[in-house]
Amino acid sequence: MWAMSRAVKRAFKYRFYPSPEQAAELARTFGCVRLVYNLALAARTEAWTLRQERVNYNATSAMLTAWKKTEELAFLNEVSSVPLQQALRHLQVAYMNFFAKRAKYPTFKSKKKSRKSAEYTTSAFRYRDGRLTLAKMDQPLDIVWSRPLPDGATPSTVTVSQDAAGRWLVSLLCDDVIEQVPASGSVGIDAGLDSLLTLSTGEKVANPKHERRDRARLARAQRNLSKKEKGSANRAKARLKVARVHARITDRRRDHLHKLTTRLVRENQTIVIEDLTVRNMVKNHTLARAISDAAWRQFRTMLEYKADWYGREVIAVDRWYPSSKLCSACGALADKMPLNVRTWTCRCGTVHDRDVNAARNILAAGLAVSACGAGVRPQRESSRTGRPAVKQEPPGVTQGIPVL
Ligand SMILES: [Zn+2]
Repeated sequence: MWAMSRAVKRAFKYRFYPSPEQAAELARTFGCVRLVYNLALAARTEAWTLRQERVNYNATSAMLTAWKKTEELAFLNEVSSVPLQQALRHLQVAYMNFFAKRAKYPTFKSKKKSRKSAEYTTSAFRYRDGRLTLAKMDQPLDIVWSRPLPDGATPSTVTVSQDAAGRWLVSLLCDDVIEQVPASGSVGIDAGLDSLLTLSTGEKVANPKHERRDRARLARAQRNLSKKEKGSANRAKARLKVARVHARITDRRRDHLHKLTTRLVRENQTIVIEDLTVRNMVKNHTLARAISDAAWRQFRTMLEYKADWYGREVIAVDRWYPSSKLCSACGALADKMPLNVRTWTCRCGTVHDRDVNAARNILAAGLAVSACGAGVRPQRESSRTGRPAVKQEPPGVTQGIPVL
């Protein structure tokens, strides 16, 4: 048996309740962050389209200094300069992802639709005795510490945001050490609509409690919103209602998925999932499908970064593998398997639960891939490690920015 410890960055998110002054300061900061991001994006786009010039982070940083000296943009000096610099770094990352063909061309942040947030690095906040005070503020934030930070943890980056439902959130990125102890199990996972997931062990994982009822509420709130006149006060109210129901669904789901992925990663050394990235080829615009797709993406992201933390392997197998039609006992292939068939009997006599059988086949396919070595692993970077680390550690905070 081997055991290793691994240093990771973990984000801890909490709600907080700003004073009116703090709320005003943050709203101002969010506005300036959005403006600086948009100005820099416009400058970079113009330089590229008109002159085929690439403008890098350092150049936009110099632009920011110049903007602050103009009369029209002098108000940028009133907020902490760190979130503004971070906005330029985020734009740099967006460009790097674009040039690496990982993302589309960056888009402008809109006042109504974009996430309101500001990122502070160590020079722009003070954390002492569990009290967090941001630059340009006299008083610490009134944070609801719903779970403790790890012992001795010190945040290296603090992100403050306000969601569409109007709630204030603060995320603290901390250094943590995880002991990697190998686990004995391996598991295959089938994604479904009725139950959230089915495991090769036969276990069915249900959707979060109340989700069905919340979905019905969300559908009702959305219908209600669509009937309201544009620009009216009632429409604004209806939109907030939609945002609140949505926030409740995503909160419950995140909580549910955190518990689930932690358990799966603790118990299993190898976890095999279906690669559902191609599922979007089958367009289905129902609300249930949209939510279940979002849940699956979130599940996979969490699973991958936690697997990375704990030294586990996540293998994604091709979606078009005939996992439902293949008998996991004898290997015979059934002719047809319409979606409404939930149990079936193979010629060998084995009675299968459709989803459990699929999960077992997924596990077997993944273990076969694993045994063949890295060369035939699914061609997705995030199948192993890579991308989750980016999520956990906002680039530019601790590393230098490569020059384009
Ligand atoms: Zn069989």
